Amino acid sequence: MPPACTIVNVGYRSTNFWVVSAGRSRLLVDLGWPGMFGALQAALHRLDVPLAEITHGLATHYHLDHAGAAQDLKNRGMRLIVTEEQVDAIPAMKAHIKPTDGYTDIVLHDNLVIRCDESRDLLARLGLAGRIMPTPGHSDDSVSLVLDSGETFTGDLTLPAMATDEAAEQIRASWQALRAAGARRVFPGHGSPWSLQ
Ligand SMILES: [Zn+2]
Repeated sequence: MPPACTIVNVGYRSTNFWVVSAGRSRLLVDLGWPGMFGALQAALHRLDVPLAEITHGLATHYHLDHAGAAQDLKNRGMRLIVTEEQVDAIPAMKAHIKPTDGYTDIVLHDNLVIRCDESRDLLARLGLAGRIMPTPGHSDDSVSLVLDSGETFTGDLTLPAMATDEAAEQIRASWQALRAAGARRVFPGHGSPWSLQ
């Protein structure tokens, strides 16, 4: 199946930020480093992605290198999709932020909070066929975006072969759920895309 969308990496500083576009409807998966919104803007500009067309954003989880510029993006018009698993993780992220990080605090009341089982309808409105699934293991708030065409955005979900810690069972279950949902090509938060066998 050909991809129903285009995928562009606007990452910097070793974290990938994926722009998933269906025409001019664009979803950003993972949302920049704190205090480095300028670098994100520069990457978008370099790759010809108009910031104004990023209408929606999703953090795979609320760690600083994945959600640090979320509010900066919201301030430019992006709607932040938050799954119910993630609600409490947003204020918790602040514990790891230093005043010198230049972090813009994420406003909570205007986010688009959804249950994962409502995600297919929301994505369809953006022209994307797929869903958002809870995939805990790296963190309790980790979710993945799985497109029906197989492209899958997993954030920091630990590779199956690397899962040796106490979360190994949970990590294996998350990968199993992704396979069952049709995941084929993995676009991780760090490193290059790879194919699930
Ligand atoms: Zn992380």
